[in-house]
Amino acid sequence: PITIDKIAAGEVIERPASVVKELVENAIDAGATAVVVEIKDGGISFMRITDNGCGIDREDVRSAFLRHSTSKIRSVDDLLHIGSLGFRGEALSSISAVAQVELITKTKDQTFGTLYRIAGGKEETLEDTGAPDGTTFIIRQLFYNTPARRKFLKTPMTEASHVGDLMTRLALSHPHISFQFINNGQSKLHTSGNGKLKDVIYHIYGREIASNLLKAEYDTPGLKITGFLGKPIISRGNRNFENYYVNGRYARNSIISRAIEDAYKDFTMQHKYPFVVLHIEIDGEHVDVNVHPTKMELRFNNQQEVYNAIYSAVDQGLHEKEL
Ligand code: ADP
Ligand code: MG
Repeated sequence: PITIDKIAAGEVIERPASVVKELVENAIDAGATAVVVEIKDGGISFMRITDNGCGIDREDVRSAFLRHSTSKIRSVDDLLHIGSLGFRGEALSSISAVAQVELITKTKDQTFGTLYRIAGGKEETLEDTGAPDGTTFIIRQLFYNTPARRKFLKTPMTEASHVGDLMTRLALSHPHISFQFINNGQSKLHTSGNGKLKDVIYHIYGREIASNLLKAEYDTPGLKITGFLGKPIISRGNRNFENYYVNGRYARNSIISRAIEDAYKDFTMQHKYPFVVLHIEIDGEHVDVNVHPTKMELRFNNQQEVYNAIYSAVDQGLHEKEL
């Protein structure tokens, strides 16, 4: 069961991080194994997203910027088994309506790449260019033509930290992809893409956390959990270190959080918030998905079942002997 809420009406683009999210999800959909995101001035004046994915054919470039144009299949299964992250076909049109966009793209079958410029929804350039296989988007002057929305942006430092948080989540949810994040010329994150979640955790959180992890592994019909549990000694005073991804997407959910926290509490007899990075795969029939343009809300048909599975996964992991 699925509710698609306001898919057409919703404003996808609120801030630089929303642009980066949409463009990186497109890169992932395009099969990229390496994605570089560079921003300046919190992303407000400059964002560049480069991938080594399949590229866009010259003849498809224009139409990719039309509203509701998507090359991706949309089905209930798609939305849940988010092999394909995009589903609305409105990211490129929304972004190009409120910024100055430059696209350089080349497929491996083409000899020349394509340079395309569009600003405020108006096409400016479509021409040949030399380019490596893959796609680069440069976004300049976000909301330059919509001052009311520009006013809602926070300081460059705050906007940059939103992008940084997003990059962290993307790296943790896709260990097989190399992500680099450069802010004002400084490299802030650079994962190897070797597929090892533990290496990503080490890179982001450092040695203390990475050397105090227990493995989580749980498989039950309709629900599969993998990832890492921080040993209780590295638990924290807030929820910021509870990372979980449902079917590939970062999620916040009270049932899941409670199951994780209860399992820790029953194990340690202490009230603290754990460090976890969990990848949760849930079958479609167990979950109601309410898809907003910018977030995914989960509702479970059988809350108790989901709670029990997550609780058991964590409980079991905590009782396993150390790695
Ligand atoms: P959606 O992702 O929902 O299909 P978008 O507006 O985000 O819609 O993108 C429109 C289309 O542009 C995509 O369906 C895809 O065909 C193409 N596209 C966008 N970004 C890339 C990319 N980085 N690599 C290859 N194709 C892309
Ligand atoms: Mg998309």
